[in-house]
Amino acid sequence: MDNPISILWMRRDLRLEDNAALYHALRGPNPVLPVFIFDTGILDQLPRKDDARVNFLHEVVAGLHAKLKALGSTLLVAHGKPLEVFSRLVETMGVAALYYNRDYEPGAMQRDNEVRALLQASGIPAFDFKDHVIFERDEVHKDDGTPYTVFTPYGKKWRRKLEDIPSGAAQGFYFKSYPTEKHFHRFAQVEPAPLPSLEQLGFSESSIPFPPSTVSSDLIRKYAEQRDIPGIQGTSRLGIHFRFGTISIRAKARRAQQLNDTYLNELIWRDFYSMILQAFPHVAGSAFRPEYGRIQWRNDKAEFDAWREGRTGFPIVDAGMRELSATGFMHNRVRMIVASFLTKQLLIDWRWGEAWFAELLLDYDLASNNGGWQWAAGCGTDAAPYFRIFNPITQQERFDPKFDYVRQWVPEYGTPAYSKPIVDLSMARERCLAAYKLALAPQ
Ligand code: FAD
Repeated sequence: MDNPISILWMRRDLRLEDNAALYHALRGPNPVLPVFIFDTGILDQLPRKDDARVNFLHEVVAGLHAKLKALGSTLLVAHGKPLEVFSRLVETMGVAALYYNRDYEPGAMQRDNEVRALLQASGIPAFDFKDHVIFERDEVHKDDGTPYTVFTPYGKKWRRKLEDIPSGAAQGFYFKSYPTEKHFHRFAQVEPAPLPSLEQLGFSESSIPFPPSTVSSDLIRKYAEQRDIPGIQGTSRLGIHFRFGTISIRAKARRAQQLNDTYLNELIWRDFYSMILQAFPHVAGSAFRPEYGRIQWRNDKAEFDAWREGRTGFPIVDAGMRELSATGFMHNRVRMIVASFLTKQLLIDWRWGEAWFAELLLDYDLASNNGGWQWAAGCGTDAAPYFRIFNPITQQERFDPKFDYVRQWVPEYGTPAYSKPIVDLSMARERCLAAYKLALAPQ
């Protein structure tokens, strides 16, 4: 391709509708060629060859490839390290500009900076946009400019920011869609590029089905009443779609604003944890509050295995862990219970649990997963005081009193085949309090 083109590098924004970088690229001076890279730096680290997220990505990429083909264009699908892929593209094509949506994970930011530097060396400009969140770190902060570390005031400021629109803009400015479809004729008109198979990428089919990207208005309307009951489908299960951008956060926030404020609040949590990771990158790998780094974890391997496999003898914990292994999903209430059980009752390092979730969750997201784990372990932002310890039996009584959820995942519950509790809860409580107290005692 000799004529100058703009490249749209797609990553966590895998849709053609309401996509910020795509909109700006299509309105730019050159025809646009979308590119997706199956990044070996990420794929090579995945322990499972039937990883469901790779299956999902492959399916979505194939869908985009087909849509672009129908528009007379293509999705260029590469398999390799982004820096090497871009070196090749710059050598072989007339690349005039790069467009992409920002990713806020520390590793991704480093990758993007390297690619930008490479292009800059050839005089090729790169343009980046906000698409993955409603508000970035610099848009919602305390009056003195420092980042919030507690959710409630952050959420209030987030909501006030919705009214603080640039002059000339209309209400609803921050949730407004980018009407990309008006400019679809600006895609580069080219022959379809080849699409590697899952096997060529080194992966195989997963048996896990993916949740749909649509959700009924009725579910969202009843969200506040139903979201804490794990035995029913009371939450949207859109996590994987938010994670890979197969849906637009702006469209969902708009809908939440019309239908259910509690649902909107959950989307604000998502922005909050993304902001925390941007403002405090040390949370990836260590406690937000450094003094919690001194906790002496027991890290008993056999107990960790019992937790992972759903054999702890606490039915709601076991149900959650088995739901995760079987479906790649776990209900939010149960995520809190199993995370608290691992860190507080078993005194196992929260990073072990974080890594297990990262391996399995379809909706795995570094910022939200890390935030959820640090919250449960008590070492993060906004955490409850460490002496407030979830009791898995009373949680069961409150949120699954008829054992509907447990029966779905632990069929042997109530029979002699079911595991005996691996830990005595009152002993574990005292042990946890002592360990936390010791770590937090003035040095
Ligand atoms: P819904 O209840 O329908 O909520 C809609 C969307 O809002 C979610 O898809 C998600 O994008 C966002 N959201 C909801 N709750 C939260 C929250 N507490 N924090 C941040 N965003 C939220 N969420 C992830 O997206 N990825 C993770 O890896 C992840 N790991 C977690 C680990 C632990 C230990 C805990 C306690 C929570 C974790 N969460 C994570 C947050 C939450 O559990 C999930 O977002 C939610 O269960 C996903 O199900 P859903 O799509 O049906 O959510």
